[in-house]
Amino acid sequence: MSRKSEVFVVGGGPAGLSAAIVAAKLGARVLLVDDNPMLGGQLVKQTHRFFGSSARDAGIRGISIAEKLRMEAQAIKKNLVVQLNTSAVGFYGEGEAGILTPERYEKVTYERVIVGTGAVENSLNFENNDLPGIYGAGAVQTLMNVHGIRPGKRILMVGSGNIGLIVSYQLLQAGVEVVGVVEAMPTIGGYLVHASKIRRLGIPIMTGHTIVSANGDLGVTGATLCQLDEKYQRVPNTEFEIICDCICLAVGLSPLIELFQQASCKMVFVPELGGLVPLQDGNMRTSNPRVYVAGDASGIEEATTAILGGRIAGARAFESLHGPSSDAQKIVDDAAGELKSLRSGSTGNRIRWGRERVTQEIASC
Ligand SMILES: Cc1cc2nc3c(=O)[nH]c(=O)nc-3n(C[C@H](O)[C@H](O)[C@H](O)COP(=O)(O)OP(=O)(O)OC[C@H]3O[C@@H](n4cnc5c(N)ncnc54)[C@H](O)[C@@H]3O)c2cc1C
Repeated sequence: MSRKSEVFVVGGGPAGLSAAIVAAKLGARVLLVDDNPMLGGQLVKQTHRFFGSSARDAGIRGISIAEKLRMEAQAIKKNLVVQLNTSAVGFYGEGEAGILTPERYEKVTYERVIVGTGAVENSLNFENNDLPGIYGAGAVQTLMNVHGIRPGKRILMVGSGNIGLIVSYQLLQAGVEVVGVVEAMPTIGGYLVHASKIRRLGIPIMTGHTIVSANGDLGVTGATLCQLDEKYQRVPNTEFEIICDCICLAVGLSPLIELFQQASCKMVFVPELGGLVPLQDGNMRTSNPRVYVAGDASGIEEATTAILGGRIAGARAFESLHGPSSDAQKIVDDAAGELKSLRSGSTGNRIRWGRERVTQEIASC
């Protein structure tokens, strides 16, 4: 089997979905694949009200933003084909990809590809970190909020960024006892509003601490923690055990970048963006002119910026095939303006530096 598309979009999260909607509405023939049974990416498990831009979806639950994007995609009667439960497994040669559907392996030929594969959760090195009962925060959200399954009865959260704090609160709402939140930094990483919610319920947030080991034979029965000094070194004789049957790691995300490497896109390690990312020109085009990037795959940020980056990628991929378009230019100008204001101020500093590095380095390629 072989399929043809002008614009092939990998990933149906907010980035890929927005890119596909824009490119199809402008008139490109688009094929979108996602390996999940439902469109929306991370949003399908995010039951909390979103932080982000007040002009775009802040205060709305992630699942509702996903629903809005799904309906927008469904309303496009022509040009957009969506194939769920399907993984893009490799890029071969110029403009060829392999996809794995539930039935078979197929070839896709394309003029442009937009990769919006999102991110993978980071793990941590500590003794016994492969015991059953140790999960990433995203996995816990999928279990609870998508499948209605509690991961355990007493859980220890590692990481006090927004994800750790939000997932702790969701665990409490689901009736799971959260025995504490451990944080290596001397201060809480996430927003105070999220931290206050769990502190009010008596959950200790142990800053300046880390996990030394998970304890148990066949599964988690506890965790040993210890204090850290200002150089993040363990303070001797400060170890203590906490009893729990589950450990949740919320220690960051890294962009999912294998497909860019297969497409020979030039990559750069940018800590501010979460790790290795493809160089791109500010219009989301990588060093391989057929390949565009959007969302967390271009650097870890959040859903609003993923949507806006996806809109730019969709519009520019369309223009690269069909020539300049005032509609496409307006989409890019609006999205770029919103991105600029979202990334302004001291909180946007790190991301702005990271983004500038990625676009400056491609100019010198
Ligand atoms: C717990 C948690 C809370 C968050 N809260 C907020 C918040 O309040 N506000 C906010 O703005 N952001 C929040 N975020 C971040 C936000 O969810 C992400 O930034 C956003 O979803 C990134 O969108 P994306 O489209 O790049 O990736 P994703 O949403 O991850 O979508 C990528 C999609 O691509 C699919 N995919 C990957 N590889 C392939 C492949 N090879 N073939 C086919 N499909 C593939 C994936 O399965 C997934 O469906 C939160 C994240 C988490 C984990």
